[in-house]
Amino acid sequence: MENPPLTPAPALLANVEPRKICLLGDFAVGKTSLVSRYVHNVFSDRYLTTVGVKIDTRIVELSQISGKPQLSSKPLTGTGLSAAALRSIKLVLWDLAGAANLTAPARAYIQGAHGFLVVCDGTRRATLNTALALLNSAREQIGTRPAVLLVNKQDLYESWEVDQDSLDSARSRVTNVLATSAKTGANVDRAFRLLAEQCA
Ligand code: GDP
Ligand code: MG
Repeated sequence: MENPPLTPAPALLANVEPRKICLLGDFAVGKTSLVSRYVHNVFSDRYLTTVGVKIDTRIVELSQISGKPQLSSKPLTGTGLSAAALRSIKLVLWDLAGAANLTAPARAYIQGAHGFLVVCDGTRRATLNTALALLNSAREQIGTRPAVLLVNKQDLYESWEVDQDSLDSARSRVTNVLATSAKTGANVDRAFRLLAEQCA
């Protein structure tokens, strides 16, 4: 049985702010799988090419907005949590068809994005360069937005081609770099949450 994602009580959803997040990355790096793991907590070994764009959403409750100290510490009756602690945002995840460069449809899809999840496949070194190039093109088009780089397929770490030096140099362009696995779920929640906090 899969665990459904946790969502806050309906009364708390009134003020949920939407944030458009676009996934960028080469073919078959795991963009669709990461979204499925995060939103539905499922993984499949089958590869179904994403056609066009697929949109999924998940509410994230931010217990603490990073870098922004809580202004209100007024407790809400019964919860023990402050109003600021209950701030929720709705991640609207745009899973674009993978491509080595920003195609015309992708250029249209990334309009209005609040942040980017940039994905590469640790077992294929070239996908790191593609991921960074896509992020560059996106930034040139819509300006700098928060971004997290996911080096996916961490469960296949023994077969990784992406080495520490390449990751260190990637860090100069994307501050947050995480090794993830859509297959095991490793770091997946953490990655989306990190971006959510930066886009809050
Ligand atoms: P996309 O083209 O970037 O959307 O890639 P998909 O999510 O469709 O995944 C491409 C292939 O890689 C599929 O066969 C997935 O099952 C597989 N895959 C995705 N993420 C992982 C992972 O973390 N570990 C492993 N071992 N395989 C993965
Ligand atoms: Mg896909």
